[in-house]
Amino acid sequence: MRRMRTGLCKLLVTAVVLIAAPMQAFAAQTVVVDAGHGGSDPGAIGVNGLYEKNVNYDIAAKLRQLLVKLGYDVVLTRDSDEYISLADRVDLTAKAKPALFVSVHANSHPNANVDGSLVLYYDKDYPQDSYPASDAMTALTPESKRLASLVLQNMVSEAGFSDKGLVPSAAYVIRMGQVPSILVETAFLSNKNDAARLADETVRQKLAEGIAKGIAAYLPPSPPGGFTDISGHWASDAIVRLKEKGLVEGGWGRYLPDNPMTRAEWLTIADRLFQFDKALRLQTGSSAQTSVTAQVYKDMPKTHWAYETFQEAIRLGYITGYEDSTVRPDQAVTRAEVAALLERMTDGTNQAPWTKAADFTDVPLTHWASGPIYRLKQKGLFNGVTDKTFAPARSMTRAEMAVMIDRYVAAAKPK
Ligand SMILES: [Zn+2]
Repeated sequence: MRRMRTGLCKLLVTAVVLIAAPMQAFAAQTVVVDAGHGGSDPGAIGVNGLYEKNVNYDIAAKLRQLLVKLGYDVVLTRDSDEYISLADRVDLTAKAKPALFVSVHANSHPNANVDGSLVLYYDKDYPQDSYPASDAMTALTPESKRLASLVLQNMVSEAGFSDKGLVPSAAYVIRMGQVPSILVETAFLSNKNDAARLADETVRQKLAEGIAKGIAAYLPPSPPGGFTDISGHWASDAIVRLKEKGLVEGGWGRYLPDNPMTRAEWLTIADRLFQFDKALRLQTGSSAQTSVTAQVYKDMPKTHWAYETFQEAIRLGYITGYEDSTVRPDQAVTRAEVAALLERMTDGTNQAPWTKAADFTDVPLTHWASGPIYRLKQKGLFNGVTDKTFAPARSMTRAEMAVMIDRYVAAAKPK
């Protein structure tokens, strides 16, 4: 392996490119609004002859208008009076990758005295054996419940129907999705007063306004970095800066700051920062590396999303596989591994051992990563968890990683 001596120069060039890149505007949050029923399925039919599907659609259309005005992107599951199956509504929502899902309905009850607004959500504490929920919806119970509560509260105060509370439910569209989901039962078409009010356009507008306010209270239209889960987080500013530079990303509008960062996620960020393909060209003097036979690791098939990055990192000598022919892409990366990789990527793979003082009680000179850890500390790029400890074997959270890389990019910035 030829020694890489591109270190700081390369880093400076990379940093300049990154800083010069245009700022990405924050993506607006997407909300899926689902008008219940439609086409051959009228839903409930009111005591006044009102069809639920039409009430639902009118409120959904009004809700869309309000949300767009607030700055959301809105996807309607149906844009006309057509029949769409529940499964298709969920599939369409999965494709839109929204931040949340709201289904709009009107209610019916055999007892004509029953009236008021209620909001349904899936609750893992009230499972129904014959109607199992997706893993995502099970995990999202607290989020769906918070959304349901905010929407109900605002809807009741705007439109003035009686408050019939939150209802844990296994309705298909709110138990099979991937994002916080609720089903709004605006009022009862089987109740004379409710049905009369649902027939009134100004009341339907009020209902839409209440739902929109609830959504906005749950999720601002453009949260920091486009992530819904970093407002007020200690690493929020660093995450937003790295997002603007295209160095980090999340899924479904979330960054998951307190999740451990995996080896694959870390290498992907490092690839964006240090541009492995360019490093390979520097190393080989051509693009001849394409003819090099790829290393085979049993947990890194060609179909893995990080396959290319791993192959490049292996060829560059940044990482090696484990003895059992694995590279463990989904394993949490440790602080020692991050330090070692960072040094290899900036100062080359052929560094001398560290012989000076071992300041961290948990990183003796004999520690395999003592060199990178102490050199990076000396450069002020990677601090201990305390003055005396580094916690080399501890995994790094996605927030900690963002703060470290943010500091690194700032240090490389030409003065
Ligand atoms: Zn309905």
